[in-house]
Amino acid sequence: MKIHFHTFGCKLNQAETEELEEKFKVQNWQIVDKTKANIHFINACVVTQKAEKEVRQLIHLVKRKFPNCFLVVAGCFTPEMKVKEKQNVDLWLNNSGKERINELILEKLYKFNSSKDIQKRISQTRTRALIKIQSGCQHYCAYCIVPFLRKKVVSRLVKNIIQEIKKKEKQGYQEIVLVGTNIGLYSDPKKSLNLTDLLKEILTKTSISRIRLSSLWPTNINSELISLIKKSPRICPHFHLSVQSASDKILKRMNRQYTRADLEKIIKKIYQIPNVNLTTDIIVGFPGETDSDFTQTMEFVQKSKILKVHVFRFSPRPKTKAADFKEQISEQAKQIRSRELIKLGEKVSQQRRKDFLDKQFSVLIEALGRSPTGEAKQGTYWQGLTSNYLKIFVHPVRSSRQNCSSFDNSKFTSNGVQSDEDLSNQIIKVKLTELYQDGIRGEIKSFV
Ligand code: SF4
Repeated sequence: MKIHFHTFGCKLNQAETEELEEKFKVQNWQIVDKTKANIHFINACVVTQKAEKEVRQLIHLVKRKFPNCFLVVAGCFTPEMKVKEKQNVDLWLNNSGKERINELILEKLYKFNSSKDIQKRISQTRTRALIKIQSGCQHYCAYCIVPFLRKKVVSRLVKNIIQEIKKKEKQGYQEIVLVGTNIGLYSDPKKSLNLTDLLKEILTKTSISRIRLSSLWPTNINSELISLIKKSPRICPHFHLSVQSASDKILKRMNRQYTRADLEKIIKKIYQIPNVNLTTDIIVGFPGETDSDFTQTMEFVQKSKILKVHVFRFSPRPKTKAADFKEQISEQAKQIRSRELIKLGEKVSQQRRKDFLDKQFSVLIEALGRSPTGEAKQGTYWQGLTSNYLKIFVHPVRSSRQNCSSFDNSKFTSNGVQSDEDLSNQIIKVKLTELYQDGIRGEIKSFV
């Protein structure tokens, strides 16, 4: 597939396009010049009338110059635009479609051209499905606009969630991720079942191989949830905790309603789950954050053996409490703290990943992609995730020939995997053998 991106508007749109390009590259799509593309992707912006006019002009221009191309419009567009440009645009993508972008494009393309290649690519994108279980939040963290926009917490019925998961299973997905604005607030509207109850229902009523939880408010993690995960191998032993800071003073100013002691208590319990991993979000440069507050957060990251730290520099959102706080931190200080925390996060991640070397794990293979950072030899690698969120790179030739007893070596050539061999969306057992800068090498042991 050859795709070209046209981007309008703010930095967010530009960053999003870059993110999308990465995502497409991992799936082996080629990002090409507009003259060579068979798919054109416009990341639109209609913040002003002028911007809207420019987007519409480009839609016309693309279709006039490349009448046979498949044209996708995403980002911000208006309902009027959808009506006026109906004839020219093949796929409109709103924000809710962004997570399955490759799949949506392929599904639509398949209607025009049902070639085997497209069919194969559709199945390759079906690895992990996001299942929305609730929306809304009432926590009113001082920096967050969400509760003003989606005040009401609305949860979906368990039976509808189960139905959707069953559908995903039939489509070939191996993993689901339960997502929402704040999934810890989940409560079935009819039976008042909580998140742990929902997980129990999913375990009994579906046979999806893996169930993963997205970001959780730390104090929503209780002993019941932990003990369920401990005894249920289908639930991924991975928690993404939105910690934000480990200074009690800053947590209070953020209105996070927990303390560092609470965090440490929860994390101690979480580590009772074998091989569990933690990832987290941290905000640096929150108004009033001193060097000492920041040091407390750094110490926490180190001590808690966090596998991956997502660092965000605080930026004030109009209409939130924190935007009016005095003691705003300079951009320079935010940058320095962000760099320091990212560096520490990488070091802690390496240390944590070392704990898993020489052990065997099941990996859900996503796609054949780039070689890992830090690998001297270039080439393509199968990439996937363990259930505890370790990124694994598997070199097909070396893995199969050296170690795999139940593997048919005739399927491999010296240049890699034969064209008819496809490990994507398969769960395989690998032995973790070597650390890379951004993952771990896995040697294939067997198919699960
Ligand atoms: S940061 Fe999360 S928990 Fe806090 S108000 Fe926003 S959505 Fe709710």
